Amino acid sequence: MEDEAKAVRELPIKESIKLILSALYEAAKELGLAERFEDLRITQVYPEGPAIVLYTKRRELVGNDDVAKRAAKRVKKRMEIRADEEIREDPEEAVEIILRLIPPEAGVSEHTIIFDKERDLVYIFAEEPGAVIGPGGEIRKRIIKKTGRIPKVIKKPDIVPEKILFLYRIITQSIGTGKDDLISIGFRIHRPRIYKDRNVRIVFLGGANEVGRSSMLIQTPNSNVLVDFGLGLAQGRMFPRIDLAGIAPEELDAVVLTHAHMDHSGLIPLLYKFGYRGPVYMTSATRDLALLLRTDYIELARRLGTIPPYSSEDILKTIQHTIVIDYNMRREDMRSDVTDIAPDVRLTFYNAGHILGSAIVHLHIGDGMHNIVIAQDFRYADSVLLEKAAAIFPRVETLIMETTYGGGKEDDPRRGRDIARFIKEIKETLENGGRVLIPALSVGRAQEVLLHIYYGIKRKRIPDVPVFIDGMAIEATAIHTAHTEFLSKGIRRLMRRENPFTRENIIYVSNRSEALEFDKPSIIIASNGMLNGGPSVEYFVRLAKDPKNKIIFVSYQAPGTLGAYVSSLASKPPEHRIVNYMDEEIKVEAKIVPPIRGLTSHSTFSELLKYVEDVHKFNKGLREVVLVHGDPKKIRYMAREIRSRFGLEVITPNVGSIHKAVRSFW
Ligand SMILES: [Zn+2]
Repeated sequence: MEDEAKAVRELPIKESIKLILSALYEAAKELGLAERFEDLRITQVYPEGPAIVLYTKRRELVGNDDVAKRAAKRVKKRMEIRADEEIREDPEEAVEIILRLIPPEAGVSEHTIIFDKERDLVYIFAEEPGAVIGPGGEIRKRIIKKTGRIPKVIKKPDIVPEKILFLYRIITQSIGTGKDDLISIGFRIHRPRIYKDRNVRIVFLGGANEVGRSSMLIQTPNSNVLVDFGLGLAQGRMFPRIDLAGIAPEELDAVVLTHAHMDHSGLIPLLYKFGYRGPVYMTSATRDLALLLRTDYIELARRLGTIPPYSSEDILKTIQHTIVIDYNMRREDMRSDVTDIAPDVRLTFYNAGHILGSAIVHLHIGDGMHNIVIAQDFRYADSVLLEKAAAIFPRVETLIMETTYGGGKEDDPRRGRDIARFIKEIKETLENGGRVLIPALSVGRAQEVLLHIYYGIKRKRIPDVPVFIDGMAIEATAIHTAHTEFLSKGIRRLMRRENPFTRENIIYVSNRSEALEFDKPSIIIASNGMLNGGPSVEYFVRLAKDPKNKIIFVSYQAPGTLGAYVSSLASKPPEHRIVNYMDEEIKVEAKIVPPIRGLTSHSTFSELLKYVEDVHKFNKGLREVVLVHGDPKKIRYMAREIRSRFGLEVITPNVGSIHKAVRSFW
C-alpha cells in the first residue's frame, strides 16, 4: 500500500488516475459493490482542490464514504464520488424529494436548500442537522439515492440578527463559484515533485518578537505555504513583511489560517487584491467568524473616514477560495483528516482551545522527513466554552509556539480562583440593586462570560436577572450556535437539554435606548472589550455615575484605550476618578474591577511549559521549540525556562529571520 501511495505522488495527476481508479475498484470489491472494473461505471475524474472527484453512473457508489475512505487510504488522496448526470434529478424535483424525506423537526424549507449547480451538490441549512442525516445516516443515504445529490448539511444559528442573514447570504452566494479555480488548484496540488532537496525554510514575516501581524512562510524545495496573514496593531508595523519572502502572491501554493482573530486573519483579502488565486484553508467556524470581523473592520474604517486596505470584493474572493477543513471533536485526538495542500506538504488541523474553530496546524513535509506543529494562539486548559488544545500528534520535530504569557510568575493567573471572584463581584452588585457592565471581546470572551453567568444563576450563586448582550457579540454568539460541534463536551451535553444561549432572561439588544434606560439589577455584556468604541462605551457613560453599579474588565486592556484608563482608576480616590469623554466630564462613581486575567483564552505561563513538556513526552522526535507571538522580554524568559527544564533547542526569531528547520538532524 505504501508503494501505491508513493507512486501516485510521483506521477503527474493524469497518469496517477489509473492508480486511483484501481484503488477505488479494490475498495468497492472488498465491500461487495463491484465484481469487475466496469462495475464502477466511472464517467469523469479530476482533482477539485485537495480532493479527487469521481463521477459514476452506479448509484450505490455515490456519496459512499466507506468506499471513498478505503480507497483514499490506499493512495492517500481524499476522494468524493458524485452522481453522473444520467442518475441525477433536476434541482426542482430534488427539492420536492428532499422535503418529503426530511422530518419537519429538522427545520428545513425550500428556501434553505441551495444547489451548487457547478459541483452537483446540495447544501441544506437546518435547525436540527441530525434530523436531516437521520439515525445511522439513513435519511442522508436516501436523499443521495433518490436525487443523486450529495447533501452538505449546515446548522442554522439559533439566534438570527439581521447582520447574520447578510453574512450567510455572502457564504451561500459563493457556493458553486470558483469551480474552475478549484480544479486548477487541484492540478497544482497534485503536480509531481521536481526537487529532492530536503531544505525546509521558515521565514518569519510578522508576529516574531512582537504581538500582531502574525505570519510565516514555510518553504520547501517544491512549495510555498503561508500560515496566517494578520493585521498589526502598532503604527508602522501594520503589515506582515511579505516583501522579505522574495516571492509574488501567485507563487504561493496555499494559505493556512489558524483562527479568526484579526491579528492572524485580517489581511488575507489583501493577498487576493494583489493577484493570489490559490486556496485558503480554515475551519468552517473560522470562515464565519473571520467574515464577520473583516466586514466589521472595513465598515468601521469607512465610518471613520479612512480607506480600508481592501474592499468587500476582496473579502468575497477570499470566501470563494476558502477550503473548509474541520477537526473532529469526537475523535480522541481532536484532529481533521490529513489533506494534501502541495506536492510535498500535508496539512492536519487540531483543536487549539483558543476561540471557536481555532486550530493548531500540523504540517507533514516530504515523506515524513519533517513535521512542524504551529501552535499559534492556544489554550492548554479546558474552559467552560472549549476543550483544551490537542498535544498528541503523529510526529513533531519543530514546535512553533505563541508566548503571550511567557513572563513567568506575573503571567500565571489562577483560573479557578479568578472565576470564583468574577461570580462574587457580580453577586455583590446585583444584591445591592446595581447593574454590572462587562465590556467583552465579541468573539469568545463574551460567550465564555455568558456561560459562567448561566452556571452562576443555575447554581444559585447569583440572582436570575436579565442579561443584555449588545454589539458584535450578538453576531458572534449566533455563529457559536451554528457551530456547536466545536464547543466543549459539557456544553454540547447541556445543549441537548437546554440552550444556554437562548434562555428566557437573555436579551439580544435590538433597542439600545431601552437597554440603557433599564434601571433594575441586570448584567450587560457589550463589545468592544477595551471601551474603545462600540456600545460598551455608551453603557459605560450611562452606568459610571451611580455608585451602586460596577464595571468588570475581563481581558487585557491595551495602553491608550479608554478601558486601560478606566481600569487604572480602580484604586484611585473618588476625586481623581474623572474621565473626559466627548466634551463631558464624567466622575466615575461606579466600582471598577481591573482585568480578571484567569479568563484568558491564551495559555498561562505554567500551561505553556506544561504544553512543551507534554508535546515532548507524547510525540516522537521533538528537537526544537520556536517562540513567537510575544513581548521580547517574555520570549527571552520563556526560552531560558525551556532550555533549562527540557534541554531542547530554543529559537527566538525576529521579523525577517529565516530559520532552517533542524537540518543537522537528518
Ligand atoms: Zn487569537
